[in-house]
Amino acid sequence: MHWDEFAEWGAKISEWAADYHKTLAEKPVRAQTKPGEIAAQMPAAPPDGPEGMATILDDFERIAMPGITHWQHPRFFAYFPANAAPPSMLAEFLVTTIAAQCMLWQTSPAATEIEGVMIDWLRQAMDLPESFTGVIQDSASSATLSAVLTMREKATGYSGNREGLNAKGNLRIYCSGGVHSSIDRACWVAGIGQENLVKIPTHGSRFAMDTDALQAAITADRAAGHVPAGVIGSTGGTGIGASDDLTGIIEVAKREGLYTHLDAAWAGSAMICPEFRADFWNGVEGFDSIVFNPHKWMGAQFDCSVQFLRDPAPQQNTLKIEPEFLRTSGSPVTNYSEWTIPLGRRFRALKIWFLIRAYGLDGLRARIRNHVAWAEELCEVIRGMDGFEIVTDPILSLFTFRCPGDDDRQQRLVDALNDDGRIYLTQGAHEGRKVIRFSVGQFDTTRDHVMMAGDVIAEVHSTLA
Ligand SMILES: *Cc1c(COP(=O)(O)O)cnc(C)c1O
Repeated sequence: MHWDEFAEWGAKISEWAADYHKTLAEKPVRAQTKPGEIAAQMPAAPPDGPEGMATILDDFERIAMPGITHWQHPRFFAYFPANAAPPSMLAEFLVTTIAAQCMLWQTSPAATEIEGVMIDWLRQAMDLPESFTGVIQDSASSATLSAVLTMREKATGYSGNREGLNAKGNLRIYCSGGVHSSIDRACWVAGIGQENLVKIPTHGSRFAMDTDALQAAITADRAAGHVPAGVIGSTGGTGIGASDDLTGIIEVAKREGLYTHLDAAWAGSAMICPEFRADFWNGVEGFDSIVFNPHKWMGAQFDCSVQFLRDPAPQQNTLKIEPEFLRTSGSPVTNYSEWTIPLGRRFRALKIWFLIRAYGLDGLRARIRNHVAWAEELCEVIRGMDGFEIVTDPILSLFTFRCPGDDDRQQRLVDALNDDGRIYLTQGAHEGRKVIRFSVGQFDTTRDHVMMAGDVIAEVHSTLA
């Protein structure tokens, strides 16, 4: 393809993109295709000769589009949102165009320096102390894995990477039962093992880790000859929004000399609003590592995960590897690939820069405040519906409910709603029972979209056999 042709197709695709977003609300939210239906429409073998762009794009519309679940649909209330505010999409377009691999400062100084400034803008927006720096990663899973590896290396005097873990004893990591599965997986792949991830019981209306039980578990583990390595806190867990008492965790961790990581992948974005900090952010400054995903509630195009670090040295000591071909000469610079597991890095800071400037923090705050208020409003509507039960009250913009009937009935309602297509919800589990999750956070969602969900739930429920 020549660049003149590229410009022509690029313009066509931009127009298609704007139309797509303008007409999105008319489409069913979740893809309505059956397993295998998309693949069955494709040739089994790759073409030997070239095909025209017009044919390729036609097939994209015909074959791929019916199999898309529309995450940018304003009535997407499933999981947590993965947003893509238009200015952040434009930034990604530029990043794709430049296609620089930004592993070292010198492989694109602008990427490294803008990343440093964006980390600091977000640090201020979220009211973290000036001493915090950070790095942009692809996902919260990667940031959490980096933190767990750091816990492991710190607890073994930085000898695990060199010697392996064979003679290190049982390294123990502590978290509540309300955390995201990425924490379990980080412990699997870091060589800690599921059995050494100690799940502490929760209490209270936000399902916070019981910090007395945390202290007791650590004491018992030391007595048993285990090696406590770190504590992972949660602000806004995925199931029901479980949020820990951060001050309480830090008190115990400080006393025990343990490294701490906070998973605020979803709820972190809401901390740009000062009014939520008293309930969710007190004590955050004591954590060694904090992760939140601007690609979720804040509006940056996926993927974009920020890991704040109180002191980057422990993580660098864990992950930095510097063969001769990666050495840089001249004055000292930041090479962010020394802070993360992958070497190669995309220029992810640009979309944060575009996003924050295009809306201002006030524009981003207004959306989050509205989402919280509308979730609370809808929660009351569902509470008043005949036989319906609110299982967990809104934690920020997430609540869970049940319709009348057993677990099977909950799943049948979720499936019927998603087949209907006007809204998209997912199920979860809480205290051994199936619940239906409702989470507000798509960038273009309005109050009408949220309130319509109440009508759709009532209507679809009334048609269940
Ligand atoms: C979404 C989420 C994660 C996982 O995020 P990825 O970026 O997809 O790895 C982890 N923890 C919480 C609380 C989340 O909401």
